[in-house]
Amino acid sequence: MTREELYDIARGLQEQFAANAEEVCQTVYDFAELGLQEYKSSAYLKEKLAELGFRVTENAGGLPTAFMAEYGEGHPRVAFLAEYDALPGYGPNSDQNGHACGHNWIAANCFGACQILKEMHDQGLFKGTIIYAGTPAEESVGGKINMVEAGCFDDVDLAMQVHIGGGEDTELGSQYLAMDSLLFTYHGRSSHAAGAPERGINALDACYLTFNGINALRQHVTPDTRIHGIITNGGLAPNVVPAVSQSKWYVRAADRAYVNELVEKVINCARGGALMTGSTVEYEFVENGFDNLKAQPELISVFAGCMKAAGVPEKNLKTALREPSGSSDVGNVSWACPTLGSNMGIGNLDGAKCHEEVFLPNCTGPVGFAGLKKAVLAQTFMALEAYTDEALQAKLAEIKAKLTEERTAVAGQSRVHVTVL
Ligand SMILES: [Zn+2]
Ligand SMILES: [Zn+2]
Repeated sequence: MTREELYDIARGLQEQFAANAEEVCQTVYDFAELGLQEYKSSAYLKEKLAELGFRVTENAGGLPTAFMAEYGEGHPRVAFLAEYDALPGYGPNSDQNGHACGHNWIAANCFGACQILKEMHDQGLFKGTIIYAGTPAEESVGGKINMVEAGCFDDVDLAMQVHIGGGEDTELGSQYLAMDSLLFTYHGRSSHAAGAPERGINALDACYLTFNGINALRQHVTPDTRIHGIITNGGLAPNVVPAVSQSKWYVRAADRAYVNELVEKVINCARGGALMTGSTVEYEFVENGFDNLKAQPELISVFAGCMKAAGVPEKNLKTALREPSGSSDVGNVSWACPTLGSNMGIGNLDGAKCHEEVFLPNCTGPVGFAGLKKAVLAQTFMALEAYTDEALQAKLAEIKAKLTEERTAVAGQSRVHVTVL
């Protein structure tokens, strides 16, 4: 069977099953649950997948709203990275949760691809394992990080995600910054700030001397570096020398190994602030450590063909690697297995972008559903390529071997700092 014949069968199944993916899109949109609270969303998705015959493993990575669902057997093992956490702060009183990042749409496009591939598997047109990875809390702690560290992606040959985006362009060269989060706690000694200042040890001084140290450090870092901090405890009253202070920091750069170096330097700035004031300082990593996304240009060019076949106009396909800015836990997956991160412009005419309240209606309904169809097909085609194209299989194996080497070389402390009891 030719590629076009195979693709045409997938197109027919997409039409046949479109209402199911749309229902998933709308249902998860209506649940609008925040990260790690996606109980209804994950239960619903697990049930839908179990109905299709997927084998569901709950509590993936120790997170109650994370799961892995598999169908089929053997290689290629292709994983679709579903998300379903919403964002807070929408509605007339800014007190409602909303899917303004369209993670409901991601949950749905993964479901659509899985349903088509399951059917093709049953018809003998796809061999391998179809994996729906239910990954919670992308917007907050980064649930994929727990799942990666628990080994959920160790035996995956290809992982992919199509995120929703505003505008016309579809970006296939998404990249993200690696990031660690640090909380410094300084301990000094209280005294009357006017009556007996000489008896005090000012923990707040230690804290802002850390800011000064880090501001000096900024001259001597690579341009991709981002270090940003806030004071979360600056004392209680001006007439009491602060005995305790705290600052919280995000340290980001384009490469995990470099973030590890930067973190050491940032910790030294805090040690310096403490030393100068006679305070003591302790630190902890308070959120999961995000890794940079390792973009794979050779996979991106294959995926571009799939996007085109799925109906994305060539002029809107951007395959060049983008300068990384934010961070995402898709990055951590990309260190465990060959990964495609992408952002599909759904052609909304209102100019709205993700996280804006006005973007909400695009994440479901006619505009969202038109994009959903393309995202479902593009991912289905990519999985079919991984099954039929031997050169691609060899490339995936080569990338996987290289990743294993690189991951070992940069291994340091565990990157998981979030546990759910
Ligand atoms: Zn977002
Ligand atoms: Zn998002």
